[in-house]
Amino acid sequence: MNDKFLPFALPDIDEHEINAVTECLRSGWITTGPKTREFEHSFARYLDADVEVVSVNSATAGLHLALEALGIGPGDEVILPTLTFTATAEVVRYLGADPVLVDIDPATLNIDPWQVKTAITPRTKAVMPVHYGGLACDMDEIIDIARARGIYVVEDAAHAFPTRYKGRLIGTLDTDATVFSFYANKTMTTGEGGMVVTRDPKVAERVKIMRIHGISRDVFDRFVSTTPSWFYEVVAPGFKDNLTDIAAAMGIEQLRKIDRFLMRRQRMADRYTEELAGMPLILPAGAAGGSQHAWHLYVVRLTDDAPISRDELIEQLSRRGIGTSVHYIPLHRHPYWRDRYALRPEKFPEADAAYHRMLSLPLYTKMTDEDQTRVIETLRELLC
Ligand SMILES: *Cc1c(COP(=O)(O)O)cnc(C)c1O
Repeated sequence: MNDKFLPFALPDIDEHEINAVTECLRSGWITTGPKTREFEHSFARYLDADVEVVSVNSATAGLHLALEALGIGPGDEVILPTLTFTATAEVVRYLGADPVLVDIDPATLNIDPWQVKTAITPRTKAVMPVHYGGLACDMDEIIDIARARGIYVVEDAAHAFPTRYKGRLIGTLDTDATVFSFYANKTMTTGEGGMVVTRDPKVAERVKIMRIHGISRDVFDRFVSTTPSWFYEVVAPGFKDNLTDIAAAMGIEQLRKIDRFLMRRQRMADRYTEELAGMPLILPAGAAGGSQHAWHLYVVRLTDDAPISRDELIEQLSRRGIGTSVHYIPLHRHPYWRDRYALRPEKFPEADAAYHRMLSLPLYTKMTDEDQTRVIETLRELLC
């Protein structure tokens, strides 16, 4: 038996990315420029819809900029699931608004639309569904609820590239903005990076300006356009959220492989689902017909019959050289969110129950079939 440590996640980088980055370094243009443009164009081509795409240096920055562009500010409320990464909520605070955490649907671990409906107040300005693990939320329901109340929908699609909802790629639905992440452990990576996608040209324009100091033309524009290169205008106190060409050069190569990555992830998820059946585990919901799970995460939950606790299982797997993780400690259990909004676990029974039973198994394209066999056999040894 191979006792080398199997990490929970690893990026899938080969000579293509290494050469592309090297070429970028040699070119003399390393910040936002031609490669960033090319990456945005390739990404837009992949989505193949009437949307604008704006690259940023993280999904966190993208979510912040999207909400800013929609005018979210002090006194506003934004509804989001408690079972997410803190970034989803922190960007709301950046703007002086308040996140309103709601519970999840235990079947999918996604935000529960009914909970969204009951959390709406006169202050509610937006809802941020998170496509947990790469499975699309119930977007028809969420969009209907939001439309009826005149609130914005900003999708946290950090896990959801490429995810399909009823045949349509996430990023092309009728929402106000969708934000993808290219962080190191996501389904494709630029090290750090993100993409804001929107149907609204005004949102795209504002994000473009605010990602780079509130300057009305970006640096590369200044470099190549015919007006004097020293001239620019500051129209707002913007941020520094632009993607570099070094990162974009990686992104272009990763995007070329994304369908191959997806097929591999789908096969591995299918194999887990087949071989873990019968163990004392709740397996993750797959996508319905016409939809596609991105399988960023494969999250299992221990049932009451399990002979071992979740914490003990993680510990025993780790001792046997298998890395796992927990997605997520719900926000209502973190001191900042809990104390600021006086949140109690009883308010989120489903997310809380899921949290205590869940762990995410290794699932990434660099894993071999033998690696996966090892995970499955070790789980069998510990659980059966
Ligand atoms: C990774 C992640 C983010 C943040 O993405 P970055 O690109 O690292 O800023 C936001 N939301 C969720 C759900 C994530 O998993």
